[in-house]
Order: sequence, then structure tokens, then C-alpha cells
Amino acid sequence: MTARIIDGNELARRVRAEVAARAAVLSGAGRPPGLAVILVGEDPASAVYVRNKVKDCEESGIRSVLDRLPADTSEAALLARIEQLNRDPSIHGILVQLPLPPHLDAHRVIETIAPEKDVDGFHVSNAGALMTGTPRFRPCTPYGVMKMLEHAGVLLDGAEAVVVGRSNIVGKPQAMMLLERNATVTICHSRTRDLAAHCRRADVLVAAVGRARMITGDMIKPGAVVIDVGMNREPDGPNAGKLCGDVDFASASQVASAITPVPGGVGPMTRAMLLVNTMEAAERAA
Ligand code: NDP
Repeated sequence: MTARIIDGNELARRVRAEVAARAAVLSGAGRPPGLAVILVGEDPASAVYVRNKVKDCEESGIRSVLDRLPADTSEAALLARIEQLNRDPSIHGILVQLPLPPHLDAHRVIETIAPEKDVDGFHVSNAGALMTGTPRFRPCTPYGVMKMLEHAGVLLDGAEAVVVGRSNIVGKPQAMMLLERNATVTICHSRTRDLAAHCRRADVLVAAVGRARMITGDMIKPGAVVIDVGMNREPDGPNAGKLCGDVDFASASQVASAITPVPGGVGPMTRAMLLVNTMEAAERAA
């Protein structure tokens, strides 16, 4: 079997076009959607992510404000800036790029964002809303995965879904969203015994681990749908330094029925869903 590719670039383009149409309606009514992005420090990967988010906004008709704060910004100054943005009616979404420099408490920073502007969906009240079945903002990465599964026509009702990884930004909310769609969900992590056996039961397997190519074809049930969230650098070999996923694409694509590539899979959808969340925030405010 050679798996069908679930193309994240193509789906993200469609999502962005829908966002642009909705943004044009609000802008036409004199209420353009606005996103504030805060970057503290000079982390080069974070700088790239932030630049891409700003560019995505420009292309979709969302007004963006980028705050680049020095690495030694005090927590009090950062919280004061967030509170100012919370009160600003022209800003509908606030995103603080993680990770923060070590002297800043990320939890406290995120809890300062007004929940109705928390377009990353990381505030405890948004995490709790997802958990209790009244979601407001869904974290962008697992939300993008759900869009991909929906677009690919994957049956989730009653399906065995296995999520590898239990972080607050990917694994846990992913499991909640799959449960919401009536999958039978297993969450695996670093203490899981016999990871391969769990993976082999999965009709839908989501890998969000952060280890290059650790999920191999022999760990996949024939015909399964495989979603690769991982964004790793090839540690060695001829492709050393290149982007790769948590799934060994070459072997997995021989067994799965559908699979997401890296790059060009979950990454572009994560970016697109930030625009969707910002749009939803702006529409609610209007
Ligand atoms: P974290 O490091 O926060 O979480 C990784 C999870 O994987 C943890 O729950 C950990 O378990 C688990 N894990 C680690 N090693 C193993 C193992 N050997 N077997 C089973 N489970 C293991 O990472 P994130 O959730 O933030 O990100 C995961 C991956 O997704 C990364 O590659 C990241 O770069 C990528 N990513 C991609 C995005 C995109 O847009 N495409 C967005 C966000 C992340 P434990 O809890 O026990 O430590």
C-alpha cells in the first residue's frame, strides 16, 4: 500500500481564503480584525515563527501589531503590556510567542491574557472549556489536525485513536478533540510500556513527540491514518539538519492509508488555524 498524502499546504490555502473573505466583511464594516504578537528576546526560531504569523495576517486582511521586547524585559513590564492590549478594542487576539526567557513565568504571562483574546487557546479557562465540552479557542495545532482529518473524510466515530505525546499545547488538547468526535482515545507518553503495541491498535495515529522518525512502519496498523505533528532536525546522515517528523515517512507510507508529510502537513495548518481563531475572536467582539 502507498498512502494518500494529506496536503497541509493545500488545505491551509483554502482556510486562509475563507478567513480573508470573512476579514473583508468585518473591515468593510469598519471593524478590521486585529492580532497582537509579542516576542520577548532574540530566539532565532521564535523570530521566524513570529515573522510568518505577521505575514499570514497581512495576506489574509488581518491587522497585526508586532511587539519585539528585549530579552531582559521584566515580568511586570510584560504583564502591563498584555493588560494594555486586553483593554484595546482594536485588538481581538493576543499571542505571546513561547518559549519565554527563563526569568519570565510563562504560566503567569498566559493567565494574564484575557481569555476572550487568547487565540492560542492556552489559558486555563480555554483549556477547561475544551475539557468540559464548551470550547471557545482550540489550540491551533490539534485544531489544524482535526481540520485535516475532517477534510480527508476520516471516520472518527468509534475509531481507535492513539495520541503519542501529552503536552498542554498538542497531545492533551488533541486527545480531547478526538474524544469530542467520539473516537476511543489512548494517550501515550515517555512512561508508556510497549508503545509499539498501542500504536498498532490505532485507526488514527497522531505523533507529537519531538523525536525524529521514531514511529516506524512496523508500529502502524495497515490502513491507518497517520498524522505527524513532529518538527525535528535530522540528527545525522546525508539529510542532517533538514526538517523531519516524528514518523518515519518512508516505511510508514507503505502501511498507512493516508499520511501527513513533514514539511507541508500539520505546520501550515497550525499557522492557518491561528488566523481562524483570530477571526472568530473579532467576529464575537463585533
Ligand atoms: P513536548 O516536548 O512538550 O512533549 C513531548 C511529548 O512526547 C511528552 O508528552 C513526552 O512524554 C512524549 N515523549 C517523549 N519521548 C517519548 C517516547 N520515547 N515515547 C513516547 N512518548 C514520548 O513537545 P510538544 O508537544 O510541544 O511538541 C511535540 C512535537 O511537535 C515537537 O517535535 C514539536 O516541534 C512539534 N510541534 C509542531 C507544531 C507544528 O505546527 N507542526 C506545533 C507544536 C509542536 P512525557 O510527558 O512523559 O515527557
